[in-house]
Amino acid sequence: METSSLAQRLSTRFVAGQTLDDALAVGRRINSEGITLTFDHLGESVTNLEEAAAARDVYLNTLSAIHDSGIQGNVSLKLTQFGLDISHDQCRANVEQLVARASQLKSFVRVDMESSEYTDRTLDLVKDLHQQYGRIGTVIQSYLYRSKDDVENLCSRGIRVRLCKGAYLEPATVAFRSKTDVDRNYVELMKLLLDKGEYPAFATHDEKMIVQTEEYVALKKIPRDAFEFQMLYGIRRDLQRRLVGEGYRLRLYVPFGGAWYPYYMRRLAERPANVFFILRNLFRQ
Ligand SMILES: Cc1cc2nc3c(=O)[nH]c(=O)nc-3n(C[C@H](O)[C@H](O)[C@H](O)COP(=O)(O)OP(=O)(O)OC[C@H]3O[C@@H](n4cnc5c(N)ncnc54)[C@H](O)[C@@H]3O)c2cc1C
Repeated sequence: METSSLAQRLSTRFVAGQTLDDALAVGRRINSEGITLTFDHLGESVTNLEEAAAARDVYLNTLSAIHDSGIQGNVSLKLTQFGLDISHDQCRANVEQLVARASQLKSFVRVDMESSEYTDRTLDLVKDLHQQYGRIGTVIQSYLYRSKDDVENLCSRGIRVRLCKGAYLEPATVAFRSKTDVDRNYVELMKLLLDKGEYPAFATHDEKMIVQTEEYVALKKIPRDAFEFQMLYGIRRDLQRRLVGEGYRLRLYVPFGGAWYPYYMRRLAERPANVFFILRNLFRQ
């Protein structure tokens, strides 16, 4: 699928292309609509340290290219792609190089949150590098029971948090299973972050979560430049336009790279209607 030209054409709905140049072209278009972005180079767990070093180099080039092209954006990465499953020390060294570069360029590195077996290791690494460089933040998932404590802790250290619901299949021992509970916790953590957080980001396509955020911000008279909304490239473009039109800050998570297939299938699986959307467009072309 990843090398078929037809499949590549279909992937452009959610993926900015195979190369950094493709991603930069999409980035310029997004910026022209008043939206900032964070680039994600696709490819999750790596199987050896050479692959991890290669991922680090792609990210180093991406940060430099963002800077040189004047694009309003930063990067998001997964620690497993930087070698966390193979060597903690090497993974830390890879991320450190990137954060040091981000610090030189006055940019920012967001460490995505993976499944709960990585939560502690991710938070520890982020706290450690933040102490030294700043310029690094992470993600908290509202489906985990532990998240309120983690948010409190990150806020007390001035570390930026992106709040999302959580994308992995977790057991009931660690995570809420019902959408009602996950949403209730999302709203609670959203308020906590707006009250105590450092430039929080609210990553969701759920209009109910977004409306409650807008209401809380209005109630507390929180300025619109004190936080941002985030969405995935290609999803709920109607909602994206509405938020930007109303003067809210919006950042898109923009994936690119050759290993787009698993990411693309997750987006289709989240909402089967997307399959019909893609097919309809295919037959129109
Ligand atoms: C910027 C960003 C970064 C993220 N980073 C992480 C991370 O680091 N770790 C992590 O675990 N998860 C991450 N996620 C994923 C997140 O945890 C959710 O799995 C995902 O966003 C779906 O949840 P939702 O909040 O959009 O609401 P849901 O309750 O899943 O959906 C609400 C509504 O959103 C719309 N919607 C949702 N998905 C789609 C779709 N694929 N196509 C079209 N419409 C859709 C539909 O209208 C749906 O009814 C991130 C999400 C975003 C937007």
